[in-house]
Amino acid sequence: MNTSRGEDREDDSATTGEAWFRTLFESSPDPAWIIDKHRFVECNGAAIKALGYNSKDELLDTHPSELSPPSQPDGEDSYAKAERMIAIAQERGRHRFEWLHQRADGSLFFAEVTLSVVAFGGRQAMYCAWRDITERKEAEAGLLLARSIMESTSEGVLVTDANGLIISVNPAFSKITGYTAEEAIGRKPSLLKSDHHDAAFYRQLWQAVLKDGRWEGEIWNRRKSGEMYPEWLTINRIPAVDGMPVRYASVFHDITEQRQANERIQYLAFHDALTGLPNRALFQDRLVHAVERARREKRRLSVTFVDLDGFKEINDSLGHDVGDLLLQEVAQRIRARLRRGADTVARLGGDEFVVLMEDLKDVEHCACLAAEIIEDLGAPFELRGHAVRVGASIGLAFFPEDGGEALELMKHADTAMYAAKASGKGAYRFFQPEMLENLNQRIKLETELRHAIEDGALELHYQPKICVTDGKLRGVEALVRWPHPERGLVMPQEFIPVAEETGLIVSLGNWVLAEACRQAAAWRARGLEITVAVNVSARQIAKDRLVDRVAGLLAEHALPASALQIELTETALLTAPELATETLDRLREMGVIIAIDDFGTGYSSLARMRRLPIDLVKIDRSFIENMDHDAKDAEVVRTIVALAKALGLDIIAEGVESRRQSEILSDSGCTVCQGYYFARPQSASQLESWITEDGGRA
Ligand code: C2E
Ligand code: MG
Ligand code: MG
Repeated sequence: MNTSRGEDREDDSATTGEAWFRTLFESSPDPAWIIDKHRFVECNGAAIKALGYNSKDELLDTHPSELSPPSQPDGEDSYAKAERMIAIAQERGRHRFEWLHQRADGSLFFAEVTLSVVAFGGRQAMYCAWRDITERKEAEAGLLLARSIMESTSEGVLVTDANGLIISVNPAFSKITGYTAEEAIGRKPSLLKSDHHDAAFYRQLWQAVLKDGRWEGEIWNRRKSGEMYPEWLTINRIPAVDGMPVRYASVFHDITEQRQANERIQYLAFHDALTGLPNRALFQDRLVHAVERARREKRRLSVTFVDLDGFKEINDSLGHDVGDLLLQEVAQRIRARLRRGADTVARLGGDEFVVLMEDLKDVEHCACLAAEIIEDLGAPFELRGHAVRVGASIGLAFFPEDGGEALELMKHADTAMYAAKASGKGAYRFFQPEMLENLNQRIKLETELRHAIEDGALELHYQPKICVTDGKLRGVEALVRWPHPERGLVMPQEFIPVAEETGLIVSLGNWVLAEACRQAAAWRARGLEITVAVNVSARQIAKDRLVDRVAGLLAEHALPASALQIELTETALLTAPELATETLDRLREMGVIIAIDDFGTGYSSLARMRRLPIDLVKIDRSFIENMDHDAKDAEVVRTIVALAKALGLDIIAEGVESRRQSEILSDSGCTVCQGYYFARPQSASQLESWITEDGGRA
């Protein structure tokens, strides 16, 4: 050791300097090292702590790469890179770089390393200081992530500065709006503004952003192409931090498709898929509003119920496909009659349509429309090669006369429509309060009739058919009667239409057929060979295996086919000609006689009649009725008789009430008659006595 004072002092100051340095070194909150000959020879407490070791001994005499993962993030081998960094520091005196370290537990952290050449213990060494920059690295990584999300997301992003100028946009922004980043940056977002919203809308939007820091909602914007589109937009205020000024970030996506899908769903919910017309829900909604308007403006409106006559038969006989086509055609025909924009037609379901007419000048206009619709729908439809005919019954109710509320008006129009059907179809009726009572009675009637059929409580009466030349019985027509506990004998005119409409006609008809066969067999057993004619409805042909049923009944009662006649009305034949023709052909092959009932009321041409599988023509009562005082009707009857004969068909007149009528008929060549003049419909036992009276008519 050197003992000179000066040296001592020098030594002192050196010692003091080193002590200073040591104190600084040890107390530094940042890790620090001394590197000598490429190895760590000294470190402070912060360094031990940073690396997660317990004591200095574990760390000293290590190469920097030993406290690092095998390679650095840039891929360079940690040992080689450490050597390179030290060399640069030695050359320049100082070097700063980033280094990835590994802690004792294996975890990694980033440090910014500064290497400085220092004198240490009289020799040149390297001072190494670290600053943990993990946080900064994470922030950088976060930023990178944010950027890559912004680049790849399908949401459009637009950022504005505090002055509302666009400072950045992402690719989705360009894709949605059509503006490139260059075109958008520096402009205001009003670049995208459409005329869809008023100034107040934008004012409220910005107030919300300023007050709550956020706004979210649907907004209509305009693309560069000029096209308007709806978007779902979120605007967020990004508050000022670390000297960064306030910014506004808008994130949005195009909801055109979503809206279209919603609109489609809405459309389907409020329209009838088959006809495209509004459905009941939409109609009711419109009616409710129309009623409010009419009340306010003191105007009248009408609700018109249209129900098809004979639709069920077509659906049953020709199939649902044809039924669907028919409904589409019907919708079109009704629509063609309406004022575009002023009237609404809807399909309520099944074969029920309803029309709303607002701003009605007079009730007459509506009545005319009803008449026109009836006429239009009465014209034949050509569907898949079938000529199909239906009719329509219409009911009308008016605001304010017939009801003050939407539902009430609908109910009353419906009631009026039922009244129209009950009065013989193909007609329109205005609502009248009495109809409600009638409707209730109808419902009661239906229930009671159902029970009567189930309980076998109906009866058959038989009306003779007489040959005027010899006064002998040619057969009887079975006519159904309903002995009602309170109302006495109810006639078919009253309940057959209800049975037709409700479908009860099928079970009723089956009962009639069976009962008629049973009675015919019972008569035969007593030597009375009486042919019984049974009325059959179109629905029995459509719904039921009529041929099998008849064959079964004949066999069951050991009856010849000639014991049975089938009467089918002209209209029934015309509703579903193909099916009827096929069924009737087979019945005729069996030997059952087929008669066309109420002939002359269904407008069928005789040429057409020729092709129908019939044996017998029954001239409708309406012609016979007026024959004796209306020359025209007498002429019609003569023509029918002549033509029927020419076609080889038998002929019978029904509803003959006078001697005069019977004479005209026999003069015309019609010798078989049925009517009150000869005999009324009567019970089986009454008929038996009637036959034996007068020396025997059988
Ligand atoms: P329809 O088949 O044309 O039967 C003839 C109707 O005329 C019968 O009325 C009969 O009583 C009536 N009539 C007979 N002679 C005269 C007359 O001289 N003057 C008048 N004014 N009327 C006469 P009814 O029994 O009331 O039957 C009415 C209609 O009900 C029948 O007309 C038929 O279409 C239907 N009907 C009756 N029974 C049945 C049935 O079992 N099944 C089906 N599907 N329909 C039936
Ligand atoms: Mg008949
Ligand atoms: Mg008849």
